[in-house]
Amino acid sequence: MLILDGTSLAAKFKGKIEDEVNALIKKGTTPSLHILLANADDASAIYVRNKLNTCEKLSIRAKLHKFNPESITQEDILQKISLLNVDENVHGILCQLPLPKHINADMVAAAIAPKKDVDCFNPFNIGQLFNEETLLEPCTPKAIIALLHHYQIDLTGKRVVIIGRSKIVGKPLALMLLRKQNNATVTVCHSRSKNLKEICLSADVLIPALGKANFLNEDYIKPEAVVVDVGISKIRVGDKNKTCGDVDFNRVKDLVFAISKVPGGVGPMTIHMLIDNLVKTTKMQTQK
Ligand code: NAD
Repeated sequence: MLILDGTSLAAKFKGKIEDEVNALIKKGTTPSLHILLANADDASAIYVRNKLNTCEKLSIRAKLHKFNPESITQEDILQKISLLNVDENVHGILCQLPLPKHINADMVAAAIAPKKDVDCFNPFNIGQLFNEETLLEPCTPKAIIALLHHYQIDLTGKRVVIIGRSKIVGKPLALMLLRKQNNATVTVCHSRSKNLKEICLSADVLIPALGKANFLNEDYIKPEAVVVDVGISKIRVGDKNKTCGDVDFNRVKDLVFAISKVPGGVGPMTIHMLIDNLVKTTKMQTQK
């Protein structure tokens, strides 16, 4: 059984990103990322801290704009985004999700200038995913595909089953896997799908992104399948919290051809994909 090791791939990828950032700095531009945070969610605080730490390690300028989740208005956040959109010292903007219920997340995504949209959530950039090639791609789907490509998993004609239809994982991933560079036959399942087990059993490549700890066991996996586990959940084991994926790793490990672990699979790659997008948006704005 092959482990799709996102931690070691991320370490390799980091070197490439470092070189690109240093080349930009040498030419006189330090990439600059602005993060908007309007929730008091613990997980979001950790994600934001990781992003800021990664930027610091790579000598990227990063600034956090914190809003009070209760008092923030749609107008406040849109106003901040319009200021950042026109500031030529800002190369990338992202708004950490989730947003408070009274804020329209779609409007926020649409307000971020496509050329600064490092998460690739703006409808213009999402629409570009219909094309065979695009400059920006959403970070998690990009990380999943990078992991599969690195381990030379040929997707041509393979049946890929994605579980989850979110805007940040399932839907964009499906479009990207349909591209001619991947040539996969894609099925997307969701909470209302019928016969999930049968569909999963037909998958050459299974990509669960449900967020339900250990939801999938050997009953869902075709022998010799490739599994990329995107889910991240916390469970209580004894008096400790344990991070685990959507797949019960120990129950399927002897059945699969390859599998990613949680933690250590897609997660470590995702943040580097964000920085890769920032390098791209910086180049787009500075290279005449
Ligand atoms: P989401 O809650 O927006 O979407 C979950 C999806 O799972 C939905 O489309 C839902 O229909 C589907 N689903 C739920 N229960 C189901 C069931 N019983 N059968 C079939 N489908 C079902 O979540 P998301 O933002 O897409 O994230 C999904 C998971 O991936 C979470 O655990 C999240 O933490 C993780 N995630 C990981 C990374 C990473 O970098 N590794 C990045 C983003 C999200």
